[in-house]
Amino acid sequence: MCKIVFNKIYLSGKEKDYIADALIRGNVSGDGHYTRKVNEFLEEKFALEQVLMTTSATHALEMAAQLINLKENDEVIMPSFSFSSTANAVLKEGAKPVFAEIKPDTFNLDPLDFEAKITDKTRAVIPVHYAGISCEMDQIREIAAENNIYIIEDAAHAVNSFYRGEAAGSMGDFGCYSFHGSKNFVSGEGGALIINSRQKKLIKKAEIIREKGTNRSRFLRGEIDKYSWVGEGSSYLPSDILMALLFAQLEEIDDITAQRKKVFDYYNYHLNEFLTQDFLEVIPSVPSDRKSNYHIYYLKFKNQKIRDFVLKELRRYGIEAVFHFLPLHSSPMGKKLGYSKEELRLTNDIADSMLRLPIYPDLSRSDLEFIIGTLRVIFSQISQAGG
Ligand SMILES: *Cc1c(COP(=O)(O)O)cnc(C)c1O
Repeated sequence: MCKIVFNKIYLSGKEKDYIADALIRGNVSGDGHYTRKVNEFLEEKFALEQVLMTTSATHALEMAAQLINLKENDEVIMPSFSFSSTANAVLKEGAKPVFAEIKPDTFNLDPLDFEAKITDKTRAVIPVHYAGISCEMDQIREIAAENNIYIIEDAAHAVNSFYRGEAAGSMGDFGCYSFHGSKNFVSGEGGALIINSRQKKLIKKAEIIREKGTNRSRFLRGEIDKYSWVGEGSSYLPSDILMALLFAQLEEIDDITAQRKKVFDYYNYHLNEFLTQDFLEVIPSVPSDRKSNYHIYYLKFKNQKIRDFVLKELRRYGIEAVFHFLPLHSSPMGKKLGYSKEELRLTNDIADSMLRLPIYPDLSRSDLEFIIGTLRVIFSQISQAGG
């Protein structure tokens, strides 16, 4: 029986050449030839003020949390519907993650709940652009500005996504990208921290944090004749070998996105009719003021029982579908922090009743036909059983 895996990385074919070239150039540590190329590419394509390549989005989030000097008792608001890294960055600085509700249509941070959760201890908000569709950034920016709160965009899903013409990652004080193997454009492990113009004064500090607490970045630019230990820091630079791999992917960023869009549109075209049935509640749609990178395709069902049935049946037919994000507030760590599973009902409901379908350029027309044909069979079983 054919097996359709959940994710396959895209390869442009140039990865090997660029990696070999990086090896021949000899500088395989951080900030070499390909790191500069990737940097320039991202800054130009997305009109970003300053990009610092990192070893992961997790590390970019950690750097952002350090840059705003989070302290004990500070609070940072974020959706519970996210990955552990969003909250860990805040915890590492001794501050408190405060979990907010998401919206039922995009599964993105609900600006009204963000506003409701602001206290005099709130220092920052971390909107997560779920599935590659941007949050309501105008509302979020307005609320953040009124309350003097930093915005750190968790744009791990959203490289090459736009909101009203602005790139994800370019709208907050800081933006964090991921190039993890599970994302659209990959270096295996990798990420980027974006520092926007309002925080320009923090670029030097960020360079020091990223370079083990030294001013080596200034030394490499020839601004000083030796480098030394000048502050706190760690090592957040990716190897130039990984950036060579990433550059091969970024050169085809729009082509990769177009291929993912085809899969997304195919699913939407064929699944739209099932929204009239009461067991299927939501399929993704891209609001007209946004451009998606088509990172995730999801289906939200009426309840967990139906979701689990569809998941099990798809797997039986060899189609790998998965669910997403055990909400942070109801995870074991969330409980340790004092949150209760009873909170954030909508987040719980969405996490319990959604699944994600395979979406990547390598899916063939016959793969897609098989997935839709299988879903039709499963859906007719559900409607015959009366939902
Ligand atoms: C994948 C992901 C991250 C972490 O990315 P890494 O590059 O693997 O560290 C952070 N936030 C969200 C929302 C993610 O999905």
